[in-house]
Amino acid sequence: MQKFFNYINGKLIEPHSGKYLDNYNPAEGKIYSLVPDSDESDVDQAVTAASVAFPLWSVLPAEERMKILLKVADLIDHDLSKLALAESIDNGKPMKLARSLDIPRASANIRFYATAAMHFATDAHVNEEDSVNYTTRMPIGVAGCISPWNLPLYLFTWKIAPALAAGCTVVAKPSELTPMTAFLFSKLCIEAGLPPGVLNIVHGLGGKVGQAIVEHPQVPVISFTGGTVTGKKIAATAAPMFKKLSLELGGKNPNIILADCDFEQAVKTSILSSFANQGEICLCGSRILVERSLFDKFVTEFVKRTKELKVGDPQNELTDLGALVSEAHLHKVLSYVNLAKEEGGKILTGGNPIKLEGHLSSGYYMEPTVIVDLDEKCRTNQEEIFGPVVTIMPFETEAHAIELANSTPYGLSATIWTENLKRAHRVSHQVKSGIIWVNCWLHRDLRTPFGGMKQSGVGREGGWEALRFFTEAKNVCVKL
Ligand code: NDP
Repeated sequence: MQKFFNYINGKLIEPHSGKYLDNYNPAEGKIYSLVPDSDESDVDQAVTAASVAFPLWSVLPAEERMKILLKVADLIDHDLSKLALAESIDNGKPMKLARSLDIPRASANIRFYATAAMHFATDAHVNEEDSVNYTTRMPIGVAGCISPWNLPLYLFTWKIAPALAAGCTVVAKPSELTPMTAFLFSKLCIEAGLPPGVLNIVHGLGGKVGQAIVEHPQVPVISFTGGTVTGKKIAATAAPMFKKLSLELGGKNPNIILADCDFEQAVKTSILSSFANQGEICLCGSRILVERSLFDKFVTEFVKRTKELKVGDPQNELTDLGALVSEAHLHKVLSYVNLAKEEGGKILTGGNPIKLEGHLSSGYYMEPTVIVDLDEKCRTNQEEIFGPVVTIMPFETEAHAIELANSTPYGLSATIWTENLKRAHRVSHQVKSGIIWVNCWLHRDLRTPFGGMKQSGVGREGGWEALRFFTEAKNVCVKL
Protein backbone atom coordinates (compact mmCIF):
# COMPACT_ATOMS: atom_id res chain seq x y z
CA MET A 1 0.00 0.00 0.00
CA GLN A 2 1.31 3.45 -0.93
CA LYS A 3 2.50 5.53 2.02
CA PHE A 4 2.72 9.34 2.05
CA PHE A 5 5.31 11.25 4.07
CA ASN A 6 5.59 14.63 5.68
CA TYR A 7 7.78 17.18 3.90
CA ILE A 8 9.92 18.86 6.54
CA ASN A 9 13.19 20.74 6.07
CA GLY A 10 13.43 19.65 2.44
CA LYS A 11 13.01 15.92 3.19
CA LEU A 12 10.20 13.39 2.98
CA ILE A 13 9.98 11.85 6.44
CA GLU A 14 7.82 9.59 8.60
CA PRO A 15 5.72 11.07 11.40
CA HIS A 16 7.34 10.82 14.87
CA SER A 17 4.55 8.56 16.11
CA GLY A 18 5.19 6.08 13.27
CA LYS A 19 1.40 5.94 12.92
CA TYR A 20 -0.61 6.28 9.72
CA LEU A 21 -4.26 6.98 8.89
CA ASP A 22 -6.23 5.11 6.24
CA ASN A 23 -6.83 7.11 3.07
CA TYR A 24 -9.92 6.16 1.05
CA ASN A 25 -10.66 6.19 -2.65
CA PRO A 26 -14.25 7.56 -2.54
CA ALA A 27 -15.15 6.14 -5.97
CA GLU A 28 -14.54 2.61 -4.66
CA GLY A 29 -15.08 3.12 -0.93
CA LYS A 30 -11.76 1.39 -0.30
CA ILE A 31 -8.52 2.23 1.50
CA TYR A 32 -5.80 2.80 -1.07
CA SER A 33 -3.01 4.61 0.77
CA LEU A 34 -1.74 5.64 4.17
CA VAL A 35 -1.27 9.20 5.37
CA PRO A 36 0.93 10.25 8.33
CA ASP A 37 -0.96 10.60 11.61
CA SER A 38 1.29 13.45 12.69
CA ASP A 39 1.11 15.32 16.00
CA GLU A 40 2.40 18.47 17.66
CA SER A 41 5.99 17.16 17.72
CA ASP A 42 5.98 16.97 13.88
CA VAL A 43 4.47 20.47 13.72
CA ASP A 44 7.14 21.73 16.09
CA GLN A 45 9.88 20.24 13.90
CA ALA A 46 8.30 21.87 10.84
CA VAL A 47 8.01 25.27 12.55
CA THR A 48 11.66 25.05 13.64
CA ALA A 49 12.71 24.28 10.04
CA ALA A 50 10.58 27.17 8.73
CA SER A 51 11.99 29.56 11.36
CA VAL A 52 15.57 28.64 10.44
CA ALA A 53 14.81 29.11 6.71
CA PHE A 54 13.01 32.44 7.17
CA PRO A 55 15.98 34.86 7.50
CA LEU A 56 17.47 33.78 4.15
CA TRP A 57 14.22 33.28 2.19
CA SER A 58 12.73 36.58 3.34
CA VAL A 59 15.69 38.63 2.08
CA LEU A 60 16.13 36.76 -1.18
CA PRO A 61 15.31 39.19 -4.01
CA ALA A 62 11.72 38.70 -5.27
CA GLU A 63 13.16 37.75 -8.64
CA GLU A 64 15.08 34.81 -7.15
CA ARG A 65 12.00 33.59 -5.31
CA MET A 66 10.06 33.98 -8.55
CA LYS A 67 12.50 31.82 -10.53
CA ILE A 68 12.17 28.91 -8.10
CA LEU A 69 8.37 29.19 -7.89
CA LEU A 70 8.06 29.33 -11.67
CA LYS A 71 9.99 26.05 -11.85
CA VAL A 72 7.46 24.52 -9.47
CA ALA A 73 4.60 25.80 -11.68
CA ASP A 74 6.25 24.34 -14.79
CA LEU A 75 6.63 20.98 -13.08
CA ILE A 76 2.92 20.99 -12.19
CA ASP A 77 2.07 21.60 -15.85
CA HIS A 78 4.45 18.83 -16.88
CA ASP A 79 2.70 16.41 -14.50
CA LEU A 80 -0.83 17.58 -15.37
CA SER A 81 -2.21 14.13 -16.23
CA LYS A 82 -0.58 12.41 -13.28
CA LEU A 83 -1.77 15.06 -10.81
CA ALA A 84 -5.29 15.14 -12.28
CA LEU A 85 -5.59 11.38 -11.93
CA ALA A 86 -4.29 11.55 -8.36
CA GLU A 87 -6.77 14.31 -7.45
CA SER A 88 -9.65 12.40 -8.97
CA ILE A 89 -8.75 9.18 -7.13
CA ASP A 90 -8.27 10.96 -3.81
CA ASN A 91 -11.35 13.19 -3.90
CA GLY A 92 -13.85 11.33 -6.11
CA LYS A 93 -14.22 14.26 -8.55
CA PRO A 94 -14.45 13.68 -12.30
CA MET A 95 -11.01 13.33 -13.83
CA LYS A 96 -11.97 15.78 -16.61
CA LEU A 97 -12.68 18.45 -13.97
CA ALA A 98 -9.37 17.88 -12.22
CA ARG A 99 -7.58 18.11 -15.58
CA SER A 100 -9.40 21.24 -16.77
CA LEU A 101 -9.83 23.13 -13.47
CA ASP A 102 -7.98 21.93 -10.37
CA ILE A 103 -4.49 21.29 -11.67
CA PRO A 104 -4.23 24.14 -14.23
CA ARG A 105 -5.41 26.51 -11.50
CA ALA A 106 -2.74 25.19 -9.11
CA SER A 107 0.07 26.14 -11.50
CA ALA A 108 -1.72 29.42 -12.33
CA ASN A 109 -1.83 30.31 -8.61
CA ILE A 110 1.90 29.83 -8.27
CA ARG A 111 2.76 31.65 -11.48
CA PHE A 112 0.42 34.53 -10.60
CA TYR A 113 1.98 35.17 -7.19
CA ALA A 114 5.58 34.45 -8.24
CA THR A 115 5.31 37.26 -10.77
CA ALA A 116 3.02 39.51 -8.69
CA ALA A 117 5.69 39.79 -6.01
CA MET A 118 7.93 41.42 -8.64
CA HIS A 119 5.40 44.24 -9.02
CA PHE A 120 4.36 44.63 -5.39
CA ALA A 121 4.91 48.27 -4.45
CA THR A 122 4.43 50.39 -1.36
CA ASP A 123 3.17 53.95 -0.81
CA ALA A 124 4.90 57.22 0.00
CA HIS A 125 3.08 60.22 1.49
CA VAL A 126 4.83 63.52 1.03
CA ASN A 127 4.01 66.49 3.21
CA GLU A 128 5.65 69.21 1.18
CA GLU A 129 6.09 71.49 4.19
CA ASP A 130 8.08 69.28 6.50
CA SER A 131 8.16 65.53 6.05
CA VAL A 132 8.17 62.41 3.88
CA ASN A 133 6.46 59.19 4.92
CA TYR A 134 7.19 55.91 3.25
CA THR A 135 5.76 52.51 4.01
CA THR A 136 7.64 49.24 3.96
CA ARG A 137 6.03 45.81 3.86
CA MET A 138 8.08 43.01 5.39
CA PRO A 139 7.18 39.31 5.29
CA ILE A 140 5.72 38.41 8.68
CA GLY A 141 7.50 35.14 9.45
CA VAL A 142 6.31 31.53 9.49
CA ALA A 143 2.82 31.30 8.01
CA GLY A 144 0.38 28.52 8.91
CA CYS A 145 -1.75 27.49 5.90
CA ILE A 146 -4.65 25.09 6.40
CA SER A 147 -6.79 23.96 3.47
CA PRO A 148 -9.87 21.76 2.86
CA TRP A 149 -10.62 18.66 0.76
CA ASN A 150 -12.95 19.95 -1.96
CA LEU A 151 -10.38 21.55 -4.31
CA PRO A 152 -7.25 20.07 -2.73
CA LEU A 153 -4.23 21.27 -4.74
CA TYR A 154 -6.10 24.33 -6.07
CA LEU A 155 -6.78 25.76 -2.59
CA PHE A 156 -3.50 24.52 -1.10
CA THR A 157 -1.50 26.47 -3.69
CA TRP A 158 -3.86 29.48 -3.46
CA LYS A 159 -2.59 29.90 0.12
CA ILE A 160 1.05 28.92 -0.01
CA ALA A 161 1.86 30.77 -3.26
CA PRO A 162 1.31 34.33 -1.92
CA ALA A 163 2.93 33.41 1.39
CA LEU A 164 6.10 32.13 -0.28
CA ALA A 165 6.17 34.89 -2.90
CA ALA A 166 5.85 37.52 -0.15
CA GLY A 167 8.89 36.04 1.61
CA CYS A 168 7.23 34.08 4.40
CA THR A 169 8.16 30.48 5.08
CA VAL A 170 5.27 28.07 5.51
CA VAL A 171 3.96 25.18 7.56
CA ALA A 172 0.96 23.80 5.70
CA LYS A 173 -1.65 21.15 6.38
CA PRO A 174 -3.84 19.73 3.62
CA SER A 175 -7.05 17.95 4.59
CA GLU A 176 -6.33 14.42 5.76
CA LEU A 177 -9.15 13.27 3.45
CA THR A 178 -7.25 14.43 0.33
CA PRO A 179 -3.50 14.49 1.04
CA MET A 180 -2.27 12.91 -2.20
CA THR A 181 -1.58 15.89 -4.45
CA ALA A 182 0.05 17.86 -1.62
CA PHE A 183 2.39 14.88 -1.18
CA LEU A 184 3.18 14.81 -4.92
CA PHE A 185 3.62 18.58 -4.77
CA SER A 186 6.29 18.22 -2.07
CA LYS A 187 8.30 16.04 -4.48
CA LEU A 188 8.01 18.75 -7.15
CA CYS A 189 9.30 21.35 -4.69
CA ILE A 190 12.38 19.20 -4.04
CA GLU A 191 12.89 18.78 -7.80
CA ALA A 192 12.55 22.54 -8.36
CA GLY A 193 15.23 23.28 -5.76
CA LEU A 194 13.06 25.04 -3.18
CA PRO A 195 15.48 25.56 -0.25
CA PRO A 196 14.92 23.23 2.73
CA GLY A 197 12.49 24.53 5.36
CA VAL A 198 10.88 27.17 3.11
CA LEU A 199 7.75 25.03 2.70
CA ASN A 200 6.88 22.26 5.15
CA ILE A 201 3.85 20.01 4.77
CA VAL A 202 2.58 18.15 7.82
CA HIS A 203 -0.18 15.61 7.18
CA GLY A 204 -2.72 14.49 9.73
CA LEU A 205 -5.91 15.33 11.57
CA GLY A 206 -7.27 18.84 11.91
CA GLY A 207 -7.80 18.60 15.66
CA LYS A 208 -4.17 17.54 16.17
CA VAL A 209 -1.96 18.95 13.39
CA GLY A 210 -4.16 21.93 12.40
CA GLN A 211 -4.71 22.90 16.01
CA ALA A 212 -0.98 22.59 16.80
CA ILE A 213 -0.16 24.96 13.90
CA VAL A 214 -2.73 27.51 15.06
CA GLU A 215 -1.52 27.29 18.70
CA HIS A 216 2.19 27.45 17.89
CA PRO A 217 3.74 30.63 19.35
CA GLN A 218 6.22 30.94 16.45
CA VAL A 219 3.48 31.05 13.80
CA PRO A 220 2.20 34.65 13.81
CA VAL A 221 -0.06 34.42 10.75
CA ILE A 222 -2.75 31.85 9.87
CA SER A 223 -4.55 31.46 6.56
CA PHE A 224 -7.45 29.02 6.79
CA THR A 225 -10.06 27.76 4.33
CA GLY A 226 -12.71 25.39 5.60
CA GLY A 227 -15.98 25.21 7.48
CA THR A 228 -17.44 28.01 9.61
CA VAL A 229 -17.47 25.86 12.79
CA THR A 230 -13.74 25.10 12.41
CA GLY A 231 -13.15 28.79 11.59
CA LYS A 232 -14.73 29.80 14.92
CA LYS A 233 -12.46 27.40 16.81
CA ILE A 234 -9.38 28.73 15.02
CA ALA A 235 -10.38 32.35 15.70
CA ALA A 236 -10.93 31.54 19.39
CA THR A 237 -7.40 30.08 19.62
CA ALA A 238 -5.62 32.69 17.49
CA ALA A 239 -7.31 35.91 18.68
CA PRO A 240 -5.89 35.97 22.25
CA MET A 241 -2.45 35.33 20.73
CA PHE A 242 -3.00 38.38 18.43
CA LYS A 243 -2.24 36.39 15.30
CA LYS A 244 -3.04 37.76 11.90
CA LEU A 245 -5.92 35.70 10.57
CA SER A 246 -7.56 35.10 7.20
CA LEU A 247 -10.67 32.92 7.27
CA GLU A 248 -12.38 31.67 4.10
CA LEU A 249 -15.43 29.81 5.34
CA GLY A 250 -18.74 28.29 4.25
CA GLY A 251 -21.54 29.64 2.10
CA LYS A 252 -25.23 29.30 1.29
CA ASN A 253 -25.06 31.13 -1.97
CA PRO A 254 -28.13 32.48 -3.81
CA ASN A 255 -28.62 32.37 -7.59
CA ILE A 256 -31.05 35.18 -8.42
CA ILE A 257 -32.86 34.50 -11.70
CA LEU A 258 -34.79 37.57 -12.86
CA ALA A 259 -37.55 37.20 -15.46
CA ASP A 260 -35.61 39.26 -18.02
CA CYS A 261 -32.59 36.94 -18.00
CA ASP A 262 -31.09 35.06 -20.94
CA PHE A 263 -33.02 31.89 -20.05
CA GLU A 264 -30.74 29.37 -21.77
CA GLN A 265 -27.58 30.79 -20.19
CA ALA A 266 -29.24 31.06 -16.77
CA VAL A 267 -30.38 27.42 -16.78
CA LYS A 268 -27.17 26.04 -18.26
CA THR A 269 -24.89 27.88 -15.83
CA SER A 270 -27.15 27.20 -12.83
CA ILE A 271 -26.87 23.47 -13.51
CA LEU A 272 -23.08 23.87 -13.35
CA SER A 273 -23.09 26.14 -10.30
CA SER A 274 -25.36 23.67 -8.50
CA PHE A 275 -23.67 20.37 -9.27
CA ALA A 276 -20.08 20.94 -10.43
CA ASN A 277 -17.66 18.94 -8.26
CA GLN A 278 -20.75 17.19 -6.75
CA GLY A 279 -21.83 20.55 -5.32
CA GLU A 280 -18.71 20.51 -3.15
CA ILE A 281 -17.46 24.00 -4.02
CA CYS A 282 -17.88 26.80 -1.48
CA LEU A 283 -19.07 28.99 -4.40
CA CYS A 284 -21.82 26.64 -5.58
CA GLY A 285 -25.25 28.25 -5.61
CA SER A 286 -27.39 26.15 -3.30
CA ARG A 287 -30.49 28.39 -3.20
CA ILE A 288 -31.98 29.23 -6.58
CA LEU A 289 -34.35 32.19 -6.39
CA VAL A 290 -36.57 32.64 -9.45
CA GLU A 291 -38.93 35.51 -10.29
CA ARG A 292 -42.52 34.23 -10.03
CA SER A 293 -43.44 34.76 -13.70
CA LEU A 294 -40.54 32.52 -14.79
CA PHE A 295 -40.74 30.03 -11.93
CA ASP A 296 -42.66 27.13 -13.54
CA LYS A 297 -40.74 27.30 -16.80
CA PHE A 298 -37.38 27.45 -15.00
CA VAL A 299 -38.18 24.60 -12.60
CA THR A 300 -39.37 22.32 -15.44
CA GLU A 301 -36.25 22.89 -17.52
CA PHE A 302 -33.87 22.75 -14.56
CA VAL A 303 -35.28 19.44 -13.34
CA LYS A 304 -35.19 17.99 -16.87
CA ARG A 305 -31.49 18.83 -17.23
CA THR A 306 -30.67 17.64 -13.72
CA LYS A 307 -32.11 14.24 -14.63
CA GLU A 308 -29.81 14.11 -17.67
CA LEU A 309 -26.64 14.46 -15.55
CA LYS A 310 -24.51 11.32 -15.41
CA VAL A 311 -23.33 10.15 -12.00
CA GLY A 312 -20.62 7.55 -12.34
CA ASP A 313 -17.00 6.51 -12.57
CA PRO A 314 -14.84 9.63 -12.07
CA GLN A 315 -12.40 8.25 -14.66
CA ASN A 316 -15.08 8.13 -17.37
CA GLU A 317 -14.99 11.21 -19.62
CA LEU A 318 -18.81 11.24 -19.83
CA THR A 319 -19.29 11.50 -16.06
CA ASP A 320 -20.76 14.76 -14.77
CA LEU A 321 -20.77 13.93 -11.05
CA GLY A 322 -18.33 11.54 -9.38
CA ALA A 323 -18.32 10.31 -5.78
CA LEU A 324 -18.74 12.46 -2.67
CA VAL A 325 -15.55 12.75 -0.68
CA SER A 326 -16.35 10.32 2.16
CA GLU A 327 -18.99 8.01 3.53
CA ALA A 328 -19.56 10.37 6.47
CA HIS A 329 -20.09 13.29 4.11
CA LEU A 330 -22.49 11.28 1.94
CA HIS A 331 -24.55 10.48 5.06
CA LYS A 332 -24.50 14.13 6.11
CA VAL A 333 -25.78 15.29 2.72
CA LEU A 334 -28.47 12.57 2.64
CA SER A 335 -29.55 13.56 6.15
CA TYR A 336 -30.29 17.05 4.81
CA VAL A 337 -32.57 15.53 2.16
CA ASN A 338 -34.49 13.82 4.98
CA LEU A 339 -34.57 17.06 6.92
CA ALA A 340 -35.95 18.86 3.86
CA LYS A 341 -38.78 16.31 3.66
CA GLU A 342 -39.54 16.76 7.38
CA GLU A 343 -39.63 20.51 6.81
CA GLY A 344 -42.29 20.07 4.12
CA GLY A 345 -40.04 20.15 1.07
CA LYS A 346 -40.96 18.34 -2.12
CA ILE A 347 -38.15 16.42 -3.87
CA LEU A 348 -38.61 16.98 -7.62
CA THR A 349 -35.70 14.75 -8.58
CA GLY A 350 -32.90 12.87 -6.81
CA GLY A 351 -32.57 12.48 -3.06
CA ASN A 352 -31.18 8.94 -3.05
CA PRO A 353 -27.79 7.26 -2.78
CA ILE A 354 -26.66 5.41 -5.92
CA LYS A 355 -25.10 1.96 -5.98
CA LEU A 356 -22.90 1.50 -9.03
CA GLU A 357 -21.69 -1.79 -10.49
CA GLY A 358 -18.47 -3.78 -10.03
CA HIS A 359 -15.45 -2.13 -8.41
CA LEU A 360 -17.51 1.04 -7.81
CA SER A 361 -20.22 -0.75 -5.82
CA SER A 362 -19.01 0.57 -2.44
CA GLY A 363 -18.42 4.17 -3.64
CA TYR A 364 -20.13 7.24 -2.18
CA TYR A 365 -22.51 8.32 -4.94
CA MET A 366 -25.82 10.14 -4.82
CA GLU A 367 -28.36 11.60 -7.22
CA PRO A 368 -28.29 15.33 -7.89
CA THR A 369 -31.28 16.64 -5.96
CA VAL A 370 -33.77 19.48 -6.50
CA ILE A 371 -36.16 20.55 -3.74
CA VAL A 372 -39.06 23.05 -3.78
CA ASP A 373 -41.81 24.21 -1.40
CA LEU A 374 -39.51 25.27 1.44
CA ASP A 375 -39.43 28.72 3.00
CA GLU A 376 -36.23 30.69 3.45
CA LYS A 377 -36.15 30.29 7.24
CA CYS A 378 -36.02 26.48 7.41
CA ARG A 379 -32.74 24.73 8.27
CA THR A 380 -32.41 23.28 4.74
CA ASN A 381 -32.28 26.84 3.43
CA GLN A 382 -30.12 28.20 6.25
CA GLU A 383 -27.35 25.61 6.71
CA GLU A 384 -24.55 24.72 4.34
CA ILE A 385 -25.10 21.23 2.86
CA PHE A 386 -22.03 21.17 0.58
CA GLY A 387 -23.33 18.48 -1.76
CA PRO A 388 -25.42 18.04 -4.93
CA VAL A 389 -28.59 19.45 -3.36
CA VAL A 390 -30.34 22.69 -4.30
CA THR A 391 -33.62 24.32 -3.38
CA ILE A 392 -35.64 26.56 -5.71
CA MET A 393 -37.83 29.34 -4.29
CA PRO A 394 -39.99 31.90 -6.10
CA PHE A 395 -39.84 35.65 -5.43
CA GLU A 396 -42.36 38.37 -6.26
CA THR A 397 -40.30 41.57 -6.57
CA GLU A 398 -36.70 42.69 -6.73
CA ALA A 399 -36.88 43.72 -3.06
CA HIS A 400 -38.19 40.28 -2.16
CA ALA A 401 -35.32 38.61 -4.07
CA ILE A 402 -32.80 40.68 -2.12
CA GLU A 403 -34.50 39.86 1.18
CA LEU A 404 -34.34 36.13 0.40
CA ALA A 405 -30.75 36.36 -0.83
CA ASN A 406 -29.66 38.05 2.40
CA SER A 407 -31.67 35.83 4.74
CA THR A 408 -28.85 33.48 5.86
CA PRO A 409 -25.88 34.02 8.21
CA TYR A 410 -23.57 33.50 5.20
CA GLY A 411 -22.37 35.98 2.58
CA LEU A 412 -19.81 34.35 0.31
CA SER A 413 -21.02 34.62 -3.29
CA ALA A 414 -24.12 35.17 -5.44
CA THR A 415 -25.08 35.07 -9.09
CA ILE A 416 -27.55 37.50 -10.67
CA TRP A 417 -29.22 36.78 -14.02
CA THR A 418 -30.75 39.72 -15.90
CA GLU A 419 -30.32 41.44 -19.26
CA ASN A 420 -31.11 44.82 -17.66
CA LEU A 421 -27.85 46.57 -16.82
CA LYS A 422 -29.31 49.01 -14.28
CA ARG A 423 -31.05 46.18 -12.49
CA ALA A 424 -27.85 44.15 -12.43
CA HIS A 425 -25.98 46.99 -10.69
CA ARG A 426 -28.85 47.77 -8.33
CA VAL A 427 -29.25 44.19 -7.14
CA SER A 428 -25.46 43.62 -6.94
CA HIS A 429 -25.13 46.56 -4.58
CA GLN A 430 -27.76 45.23 -2.20
CA VAL A 431 -26.80 41.56 -1.97
CA LYS A 432 -24.53 41.05 1.04
CA SER A 433 -21.90 38.75 -0.49
CA GLY A 434 -18.19 39.26 -1.04
CA ILE A 435 -18.32 37.95 -4.62
CA ILE A 436 -21.10 38.67 -7.13
CA TRP A 437 -21.26 37.21 -10.63
CA VAL A 438 -23.64 38.83 -13.12
CA ASN A 439 -24.65 36.48 -15.96
CA CYS A 440 -21.78 34.10 -15.20
CA TRP A 441 -20.35 31.90 -12.45
CA LEU A 442 -16.84 31.06 -11.26
CA HIS A 443 -15.43 33.49 -13.77
CA ARG A 444 -12.23 34.27 -11.89
CA ASP A 445 -9.64 36.99 -12.30
CA LEU A 446 -6.92 36.27 -9.75
CA ARG A 447 -6.30 40.00 -9.23
CA THR A 448 -9.70 40.54 -7.60
CA PRO A 449 -10.44 40.40 -3.85
CA PHE A 450 -11.84 37.00 -2.90
CA GLY A 451 -13.72 36.24 0.32
CA GLY A 452 -16.96 36.36 2.21
CA MET A 453 -19.03 38.61 4.45
CA LYS A 454 -20.83 37.67 7.67
CA GLN A 455 -20.10 34.05 8.71
CA SER A 456 -18.45 33.30 5.38
CA GLY A 457 -15.17 34.70 6.54
CA VAL A 458 -12.82 37.41 7.63
CA GLY A 459 -10.43 39.16 5.25
CA ARG A 460 -9.84 38.77 1.54
CA GLU A 461 -7.50 36.66 -0.57
CA GLY A 462 -6.50 37.30 -4.18
CA GLY A 463 -4.39 39.98 -5.88
CA TRP A 464 -2.54 42.42 -3.66
CA GLU A 465 -4.81 41.54 -0.72
CA ALA A 466 -2.94 38.26 -0.15
CA LEU A 467 0.51 39.83 -0.47
CA ARG A 468 -0.54 42.49 2.02
CA PHE A 469 -1.87 39.79 4.34
CA PHE A 470 1.44 37.93 4.48
CA THR A 471 3.44 41.14 5.06
CA GLU A 472 3.46 43.68 7.88
CA ALA A 473 3.28 47.39 7.06
CA LYS A 474 5.69 49.81 8.70
CA ASN A 475 5.51 53.56 8.17
CA VAL A 476 8.73 55.58 8.33
CA CYS A 477 8.32 59.34 8.79
CA VAL A 478 11.37 61.46 7.90
CA LYS A 479 11.35 65.11 8.97
CA LEU A 480 12.77 67.32 6.26
P1 NDP B 1 -13.08 21.75 7.74
O1 NDP B 1 -13.32 23.03 8.45
O2 NDP B 1 -13.58 20.50 8.38
O3 NDP B 1 -11.53 21.50 7.52
C1 NDP B 1 -10.69 22.41 6.83
C2 NDP B 1 -9.25 22.14 7.24
O4 NDP B 1 -9.09 22.48 8.62
C3 NDP B 1 -8.84 20.68 7.12
O5 NDP B 1 -7.49 20.60 6.75
C4 NDP B 1 -9.06 20.19 8.54
O6 NDP B 1 -8.35 19.02 8.81
C5 NDP B 1 -8.57 21.38 9.34
N1 NDP B 1 -9.02 21.46 10.72
C6 NDP B 1 -10.07 20.84 11.31
N2 NDP B 1 -10.14 21.16 12.62
C7 NDP B 1 -9.13 22.02 12.87
C8 NDP B 1 -8.68 22.74 14.01
N3 NDP B 1 -9.28 22.64 15.20
N4 NDP B 1 -7.62 23.57 13.88
C9 NDP B 1 -7.01 23.72 12.70
N5 NDP B 1 -7.37 23.05 11.58
C10 NDP B 1 -8.42 22.22 11.65
O7 NDP B 1 -13.64 21.93 6.27
P2 NDP B 1 -13.75 20.82 5.17
O8 NDP B 1 -12.42 20.22 4.90
O9 NDP B 1 -14.88 19.93 5.54
O10 NDP B 1 -14.12 21.70 3.89
C11 NDP B 1 -15.41 22.07 3.58
C12 NDP B 1 -15.70 23.47 4.07
O11 NDP B 1 -14.77 24.38 3.52
C13 NDP B 1 -17.07 23.96 3.62
O12 NDP B 1 -17.71 24.59 4.70
C14 NDP B 1 -16.75 24.97 2.54
O13 NDP B 1 -17.71 25.96 2.36
C15 NDP B 1 -15.47 25.54 3.04
N6 NDP B 1 -14.74 26.15 1.93
C16 NDP B 1 -14.66 27.51 1.86
C17 NDP B 1 -14.02 28.14 0.79
C18 NDP B 1 -13.89 29.62 0.72
O14 NDP B 1 -13.05 30.07 -0.07
N7 NDP B 1 -14.63 30.41 1.45
C19 NDP B 1 -13.46 27.34 -0.31
C20 NDP B 1 -13.61 25.92 -0.13
C21 NDP B 1 -14.23 25.35 0.96
P3 NDP B 1 -9.10 17.60 8.69
O15 NDP B 1 -9.50 17.44 7.28
O16 NDP B 1 -8.08 16.64 9.10
O17 NDP B 1 -10.28 17.66 9.62
